Amino acid sequence: MKVTGMSVIVAGMLPRVAFAARNALRSMRTGVQPGDKTRLVIETSARPSYSLSYPEKQLVIDIANMSADTSVVAKLASGTLVTDIKQVQSGDHLHIVANLRKNIGELQKSQIMLLEPNGDNDYRLVLDFTASTSADKIASAVASNGTNNKNQQKKYVVIIDPGHGGKDPGCIGKNGTREKDVVLSVGRKLKNKLDAAGFKTYMTRTNDTYLKLANRAEFAERRKGDLFISLHANANPSRTVKGFSIYTLSEKASDEEAKKLAESENAADKIGVDGFTEFEKEIRAALSSLQQHAVAEMSEEYANGCARAFRSSKVEAQPGPSVRHAPFAVLRSTVPGALIELGHLSNTSEERLLKNPEHQAKLVAAIVRSIKNYNFDV
Ligand SMILES: [Zn+2]
Repeated sequence: MKVTGMSVIVAGMLPRVAFAARNALRSMRTGVQPGDKTRLVIETSARPSYSLSYPEKQLVIDIANMSADTSVVAKLASGTLVTDIKQVQSGDHLHIVANLRKNIGELQKSQIMLLEPNGDNDYRLVLDFTASTSADKIASAVASNGTNNKNQQKKYVVIIDPGHGGKDPGCIGKNGTREKDVVLSVGRKLKNKLDAAGFKTYMTRTNDTYLKLANRAEFAERRKGDLFISLHANANPSRTVKGFSIYTLSEKASDEEAKKLAESENAADKIGVDGFTEFEKEIRAALSSLQQHAVAEMSEEYANGCARAFRSSKVEAQPGPSVRHAPFAVLRSTVPGALIELGHLSNTSEERLLKNPEHQAKLVAAIVRSIKNYNFDV
């Protein structure tokens, strides 16, 4: 599948294009990322409508509605695949031509990020790539022959992570309902519905087994997840507290309650602790980069959409913000995602609901809707 910003415009913004303000090129820069990846960042004043092409030893980014600006000089880091970058005007389009030391394969969706403005930054198109291997060439040759249509209909990969399991029951309701059982049941139903809706799904656990938090995150990386959904149920010292809440990763908790929750969810790993794995070190390196911001933004977008889906399905919300942030170990990966607390097992009426198949189906339907509405393509 060729990834292009154009499809977004065709789908929903066509009437606005004719009147759209001209896009302006703000900056261009390269850098080196872990795994010997070259990162090329193109900053623009408006959301770019772009397409990519791959002439011999070049990467061309075609941006619509944009004029060349010679005052914008690319900042090139040493040690990347990019030797120089030129701007070539082509009618109303600007072609940003990156000359490369080696050929690269067609960029996959996971190698492309489009970041919203934040702080001092405008829109940023972020492209990560490495020199192509012979395997890439074969794959792209097969795809362009049209003999492998399956290759062109890539399914989005959703990782479903039922929390806890095995020796770690999670929280337990007054009537003995265990978090690990509720979330596994909801997770299985979610998998069935998502598979039926055309997604590729993987569950971190499909039975009552214990799995370390870092292993869950690592699983999401290995399966090349596009979205990670960690399912949990909550407990509160006050048995009157009820409702769902949704969390994304942040190294600083958004509030005291979120902090406590992250501590209790992370505490599961103290049951079986080893040192940091090689994976965790790599992820820390990746997360210290720009990618962290992209993952955080996409996660936030998903989490807000999920909260909206729950609210419109009349699932009771915990008082306070529906989306909060805390340092959850399970969310430390480069896969965007959220941790969903489906409700409170500590509340007797909600404990009853959480094990009720109809209520579980309602929760699953809301999550499926939020995933269908999520923009995987940014
Ligand atoms: Zn939990």
